[in-house]
Amino acid sequence: MDLFNLTANQLLTMISSGQISAADVLSSVRVRQQAVGQKTNAFIRTYDETGNGAAFPVPIGIKDNICVKGREVTCASKILKGFRPPYDAAVVEKIKASGGIVLGSLNMDEFAFGSSTESSSYGIVRNPWDLGCVPGGSSGGSAAAVAAGEAVWAIGSDTGGSIRQPASFCGVVGLKPTYGRVSRYGLIAFGSSLDQIGPITKDTTDCARLLGILAGFDHRDSTSVDLPVPDYTKSLDRHVRGLRVGIPKEYFIDGIQPSVLAAVQAAIDFYKKEGALICEISLPHTEYAVATYYIVATAEASSNLARFDGVEYGLRAVPSRPRKAGIVDMYEETRAKGFGNEAKRRIMLGTYVLSAGYYDAYYLRAQKARTLIKNDLDKAFLDCDVILSPTAPTTAFRIGEKTNDPLSMYLSDIFTIPANLAGIPAISLPCGFDEKNLPIGLQLMAAPFAEERLLAAAFAYEQAHGWHVQRAKL
Ligand code: GLN
Repeated sequence: MDLFNLTANQLLTMISSGQISAADVLSSVRVRQQAVGQKTNAFIRTYDETGNGAAFPVPIGIKDNICVKGREVTCASKILKGFRPPYDAAVVEKIKASGGIVLGSLNMDEFAFGSSTESSSYGIVRNPWDLGCVPGGSSGGSAAAVAAGEAVWAIGSDTGGSIRQPASFCGVVGLKPTYGRVSRYGLIAFGSSLDQIGPITKDTTDCARLLGILAGFDHRDSTSVDLPVPDYTKSLDRHVRGLRVGIPKEYFIDGIQPSVLAAVQAAIDFYKKEGALICEISLPHTEYAVATYYIVATAEASSNLARFDGVEYGLRAVPSRPRKAGIVDMYEETRAKGFGNEAKRRIMLGTYVLSAGYYDAYYLRAQKARTLIKNDLDKAFLDCDVILSPTAPTTAFRIGEKTNDPLSMYLSDIFTIPANLAGIPAISLPCGFDEKNLPIGLQLMAAPFAEERLLAAAFAYEQAHGWHVQRAKL
């Protein structure tokens, strides 16, 4: 049996019954990584840690924007080359304390800007289901590693969909927790008011386990919320009778791939058949979500990225022709050489929307629109427990298909962005395959801190269908 294909939950059962050892799991995953790693390019670097002797050291990959003590962390950017943080991110501390083994750092879009993992300075990542397609992004390495069996679990980050959309494209489960549920300490910031770290796993049971490890209060993140962490695995329940499932009419628009629409419709029918109450809802400000996000996110990104100037972190470029200004030349040269095109685009957009004279017209307005989008969702959750939609309008697209058209790339985030703007939790889980045998993702959103409800609703669907046991043939 190929252990790398199993979930942590299955592996743990086999370890407890003495069928296999934890060392067998680790070696299976490492051998798999060596066998297929060149095809997917999911890992930027791998480590040979052996763990602290815990009963079940789950082999886990970490997105390359999360600090692991003493290991290089680059956000897949040239500008951070050589930077080694002297501390572990809060989630890495928790993973290590739980016995998890950090396998290595996972590829991503540069600074998490993107939906395809084509903007990494370490090369593109390929989708394990079809190596000619993107894995989604920006946590494309995380989703591809789990889908390919190169890691049992992976950690991603989600600012506008970067956990859920790649999970959807790679046929795995990804959850963006409520803003404040998981500490951002040690996550290199993109959009600080939107960023959350979360799990990417093969099924919802593993998702519940890993979320339980990651979640919890941390005084080092001022937006961390001090609420008890439930045992999320206890919330998994096959029954959805009486669950109120909201279907937002603004999400069922032209341009959704027909096979995605059909799969999502079948999911709605499933919930109905099982006794859930399906209600059509309206989120009237949805049409402003993408524009709002790309103002708020780029504004925050431009100020967060101001710290990368050659002084403190990573790359320092020597000005090609000496001029009088000295240090300013060094800043300029470092930033010109260190950042890729998408990062430069975001810095310029963000600087523009924050600049005097445009601040009110763009940034302030976007903040107001954000409130309206959040109010829509707050109101909807008075009438329903979860909101159901596709995770993305299409399945994985071809490599190169959208690289010259940033706007069409941005539009693929339309269903995932509202959860970040509102700070609510959302999950993506496998819900079938399209005509090309590419995975389709179903998204469920819930009210703040209702992760248990989300996991329960996802588990019921997953167990009745079994899409999650399909594996990419690599
Ligand atoms: N695709 C979105 C963007 O490009 C979201 C990225 C993310 O969530 N990190 O900004």
